[in-house]
Amino acid sequence: MGVFDHPEFDHHESIHYFEDPGAGLKAIIAIHSTALGPAAGGCRRWNYVSDDLALTDVLRLSRGMTYKNAVAGLPFGGGKAVILAAEGAPKSRALFDAFGRAVDSLQGRYITAEDVGIGVDDMRVVRGRTPFVSGLVQTGASAGGDPSPWTALGVFHGIEAAVAARLGVDSLEGITVAVQGVGHVGVHLCRRLHAAGARLVVADVDRKSLQSLCEQLPAEIVAPRDILFSDVDVLAPCALGNVLNSETIPRIRAKVVAGAANNQLASDNDGRRLTDRGILYAPDYVINAGGVISVAHEYLGNSTEARVRSEVCRIPERLRRIFADAESGARPTNVVADELARRIVEQGGAAGHVNQPTAKRRIA
Ligand code: NAD
Repeated sequence: MGVFDHPEFDHHESIHYFEDPGAGLKAIIAIHSTALGPAAGGCRRWNYVSDDLALTDVLRLSRGMTYKNAVAGLPFGGGKAVILAAEGAPKSRALFDAFGRAVDSLQGRYITAEDVGIGVDDMRVVRGRTPFVSGLVQTGASAGGDPSPWTALGVFHGIEAAVAARLGVDSLEGITVAVQGVGHVGVHLCRRLHAAGARLVVADVDRKSLQSLCEQLPAEIVAPRDILFSDVDVLAPCALGNVLNSETIPRIRAKVVAGAANNQLASDNDGRRLTDRGILYAPDYVINAGGVISVAHEYLGNSTEARVRSEVCRIPERLRRIFADAESGARPTNVVADELARRIVEQGGAAGHVNQPTAKRRIA
């Protein structure tokens, strides 16, 4: 498949390929937009079936970061990195050293952080090679480090907003939630949902993650192939993307879909399919922005728990506006969110926010 005519290309500013056989690194960094500032977005490590699938993934994730950062009001553009992992290959210091050099070669046009398959320790190694990384420190009064708890907090409040809008209740007491994937974000989300009185139905392909969750909380476990179709009020996809598509949507029984996973819709048309079935969809990059809000403030050096919390707690108000606009215009929520994001990027770009100085790294 060509790159410029790739269906997901969508005017990316640049795409960079890196290979370092000695370190076992094969990676793609995609920079979708720097109109609002340097392109910020995490790094995913995954065993892709083909290079084409890795390219498709990084392009979709990168555009999603442009929209996510814009709607969250952050002075950053959108980019993303994927590391193509061979099956069963272990992570190594050399790998993240090499990835850090790759990020550094872009001279600050791209800022990296954790995503699926990457932890804080990996990002600390990257920090040894480049200052253009976040999601690694939590010191004293300053917030930062692992973004997952903040992502989970935003998703939790987003679920509250979606349940209020769709089911007309202002509490999660007795609400059933199916959580697909109980990894970094999923486990924090489950804790919050349980504390709020929700009943949990969970699935994960990783038995250890499931076991660890069930040692902490009461939850009904279902098979990964069944979780999307559970008879619940809310479906919270917290694993990988493309789970909402023409095959799955007709079988979904939940009235609300609101979760952390990026790129939940396989295509933009799937937003319409959900609307037509009366399912309220919380656009993924709006509800899951808690993590990037945390890493962005950490990067800018102005991160405190209180500040990050108050920014993350604005996610439900953004969702409520999107839900209301979608309802009044009888339009899918993803379409309304995309239009909002594009408007913010166009206005910011026109106002000359390119690589604004506020988005330069200030922490040591
Ligand atoms: P993670 O890798 O820690 O957790 C994902 C979990 O999903 C794993 O336990 C994995 O075994 C499980 N899983 C994979 N395929 C599955 C399937 N088919 N059925 C059930 N479970 C499956 O990742 P994470 O950091 O928790 O992120 C989860 C999702 O949220 C990803 O899509 C990520 O891009 C998105 N996200 C994460 C953050 C963050 O702060 N970590 C921020 C925004 C968005």
